[in-house]
Amino acid sequence: MTDRKPILIAGAGIASLLLAQSLRLSGIPYRVFERDASFVFRAQGYRLRLSSEGLDAIQAVLDPETWQRFWGTCGKTGGLGFASFNAVTGEQIEHHLVPPALVSRQGGGKTIGISRGDMRRIFAQGCEDNIEWGKHVTGYEVTEDGVQAIFADGTRSVEGPLLVGGEGIYSKVAKQLSEGKLKVYDTGARGTHGQAPSASFKGLGEGVFRLLDDTRPEGSVFVITNVRPEEMDDPSVSFGWTMGGHPGVIRAPNDDYTIVGRTAADIARSLTQKWHPRFRPLFEDMNESEAAFWKITCSTPSGVPDWPNQPRVTVIGDSVHSMTPAGGIGANTAVRDSALLGRLLREDGGYKAGVTERYEKEMRIYASEAVRESYSTAVKQFGIVIDEETSLTV
Ligand SMILES: Cc1cc2nc3c(=O)[nH]c(=O)nc-3n(C[C@H](O)[C@H](O)[C@H](O)COP(=O)(O)OP(=O)(O)OC[C@H]3O[C@@H](n4cnc5c(N)ncnc54)[C@H](O)[C@@H]3O)c2cc1C
Repeated sequence: MTDRKPILIAGAGIASLLLAQSLRLSGIPYRVFERDASFVFRAQGYRLRLSSEGLDAIQAVLDPETWQRFWGTCGKTGGLGFASFNAVTGEQIEHHLVPPALVSRQGGGKTIGISRGDMRRIFAQGCEDNIEWGKHVTGYEVTEDGVQAIFADGTRSVEGPLLVGGEGIYSKVAKQLSEGKLKVYDTGARGTHGQAPSASFKGLGEGVFRLLDDTRPEGSVFVITNVRPEEMDDPSVSFGWTMGGHPGVIRAPNDDYTIVGRTAADIARSLTQKWHPRFRPLFEDMNESEAAFWKITCSTPSGVPDWPNQPRVTVIGDSVHSMTPAGGIGANTAVRDSALLGRLLREDGGYKAGVTERYEKEMRIYASEAVRESYSTAVKQFGIVIDEETSLTV
């Protein structure tokens, strides 16, 4: 017998929403609890590049019609492929680190990308009535016949057979479940992301670009951006870029990385003052209100740790394996979790004891590999070092 009470999902990020979609299509009841008030509560900012593995996982979950809509919304960028440039001289760099995983199978060698906001909206289609907004999950209690999520206002969710923590890097479910073994380290590195009108990117041409400035003694600064030809001449379209740097190079005032707008924009502009004229418009023409900082974090670099399995609670996405932006595999790994857990639940016809153990066993293998890969690339690219015993956690 399977349990027909709803599976409880904390957070409405991409991992949670893809799992919700999977459950919806399998006819398994679920409820999603999201702390924000709506999809647009905070800037949804950046663009995600998708690997073959990520796309396979998404396609395995979505019905054919939704998959076509998703695929149609994805940008397909060809041009130079993934090219690195010296940001100051404007020259192409011979020895650049190209994440091969990001050349996707369906794209005919093109890089596939989509904004996080569009991805969430497509995954959520048909699930809207089962999403409860303004529900800040702070923990859970395992009951005699199930589990309940506990919210910041002291109230509780209905009882469900399973709670899935998908609330990202600050996941309280992950902390409680693993008794603190799941850690997220502050690498000390900070980033910003911003947007500018598509016309400001014309000097780059089509492609995915990594602009690298290593002229600073305190460390390098890089920018990654994706220039899509089909939208280049549309004045209503803005393209985004993501900037990162060695620890200490990008600094938010008082290390307050929640600051958005002009302060973040000014810092990005000052760091790129000496950059080649081809790249400067990305920062000079910036839409200031969209500029934001972000903290570069990473979960345990040696891999997803073990914790005593709790049959009624598990974790997906950044809650269990957050990664640095190096390699661009965080979201790609998150959607694999949703596809895997969704498939196991479908095969069982709903929740059955043992599902979290089977899911965690498989997830630990590919997620540990992904964290290790992202971390080792980040060590080379922007000089972060994590000591699992002593480094600060968030
Ligand atoms: C600038 C940047 C660029 C990136 N580029 C790429 C890329 O190119 N490719 C790639 O694969 N990955 C990339 N990533 C990583 C990717 O964004 C993450 O791995 C992915 O979003 C993780 O999804 P998630 O659903 O696990 O978590 P999130 O997307 O963080 O979603 C968590 C959700 O939970 C909600 N929440 C948080 N706390 C609570 C709470 N207590 N209660 C209820 N709800 C809560 C949040 O509001 C959010 O909606 C990038 C990340 C950044 C910051």
